[in-house]
Amino acid sequence: MDGSGNSLLAGPEGRKKRVCYYYDSEVGNYYYGQGHPMKPHRIRMAHSLLVHYGLHQKMDVFAPTKAKERDLCLFHADDYVRFLKTVTPETQHEQIRQLKRFNVGEDCPVFDGLFPFCQTYAGGSLGGAVRLNQKMADIAINWAGGLHHAKKCEASGFCYVNDIVLAILELLKFHERVLYIDIDIHHGDGVEEAFYTTDRVMTVSFHKFGDYFPGTGDIRDVGFEKGKYYSLNVPLNDGIDDESYQCLFKPIISKVMEVFQPGAVVLQCGADSLSGDRLGCFNLSVKGHAECVRFMRSFNVPLLLVGGGGYTMRNVARCWCYETGVAVGVELEDKMPYNEYYEYFGPDYTLHVAPSNMENQNSLQYLQTIRERLLENLSRLQHVPSIQFSERPPDTEILDEDEEEMDVKGKIRIWDGEFYDSESEHAENLRSNHDLDANNVAALRRHTPELTEGQTTKRFKCNEEKGSNVSRNSHGIRA
Ligand SMILES: [Zn+2]
Repeated sequence: MDGSGNSLLAGPEGRKKRVCYYYDSEVGNYYYGQGHPMKPHRIRMAHSLLVHYGLHQKMDVFAPTKAKERDLCLFHADDYVRFLKTVTPETQHEQIRQLKRFNVGEDCPVFDGLFPFCQTYAGGSLGGAVRLNQKMADIAINWAGGLHHAKKCEASGFCYVNDIVLAILELLKFHERVLYIDIDIHHGDGVEEAFYTTDRVMTVSFHKFGDYFPGTGDIRDVGFEKGKYYSLNVPLNDGIDDESYQCLFKPIISKVMEVFQPGAVVLQCGADSLSGDRLGCFNLSVKGHAECVRFMRSFNVPLLLVGGGGYTMRNVARCWCYETGVAVGVELEDKMPYNEYYEYFGPDYTLHVAPSNMENQNSLQYLQTIRERLLENLSRLQHVPSIQFSERPPDTEILDEDEEEMDVKGKIRIWDGEFYDSESEHAENLRSNHDLDANNVAALRRHTPELTEGQTTKRFKCNEEKGSNVSRNSHGIRA
């Protein structure tokens, strides 16, 4: 690969990029449980595919160093992290109260190796952020990351720790402003909430809205206090296709780049917005989805790409493999090379599959209306906020919640509990075997310097009225 990052390529995509890529060979072994739609195996499938396309030769490939407990505690509550570290499938029944308190059990089950899994996917995103900060790469990729629903002291929507928030905190050590963009079909609620009151992070989420998990992400939610107009929500209906998606994405993001001028961008590439996703209802092709990556790459701003949702494994692998190709600047052949998981990609064995003929419930008028409204919000941003490294809002005291309140907590679930097994046989056979060899772990290269609390901007305490309407509607913000 070209290590200089300065060789100009002809064409609109500008400079050739130095790309670093984080992958842990154990990650595919973690297993959420029988019938659970979230399958870390998809990360291994994507990796296998991109290696067989030869893309690993065009990137710096790293095994992520596991994030330490104290790294995770820079966003998450200490007692929540300690719980994730100590809970086991065998002993979880002794901790019913804690399970409820931290929303662990249903969508977010306790499984073997849960904590090292969290450390691994968070370590990849943190490592990528550090490498971008050190100017050792132009683009960093961690497909195991992107778990955007996790909250400060609560698991949610298959997510336990929020690697994105941790990576953004790391980027904020070197950059005045960081932009977060989320193209998962679900609202990027955990990231939005973490930065809802700051003008140093702008969050932009494109998602299905209306009777859909997690229920937040209304176009009227724009941020609060200093963060007002620094959160942007793009609510979409079923069946959105490539053309409709890009007629929002490009003008909105162009305007964001112009008015916010971020020093770094994090793009969450959740693949459940693809056509045919088991939990999704959009109609994007891999090329339409990847157009977002291509577009962000063209701004020549340090870019962290993370994964996220994606529940039809063969399409997740297709998508993240193709997007890795976009990152390194290679157009991949449609005909797939043979790979370990070849049988998943039949009968066509091609990288691209046609979207469906489902109805696009986003009318032209609807798209125009929300585009104008969002551009108008952006025009209210008069200034590019400058750095305030010492700023830190006062912490709010936490009150322990009582169990009656927790029991009435009416949550929309990300998954209805129905079993999703048609694709899972392979994964089930590869069932959890992750006794990690301490020597291997020590041998992994560590790229994550210690995070210190003083270097972070925001550190919210847990919601004291958890389960009440107040905490859901106000994003947990305590001014
Ligand atoms: Zn999702």
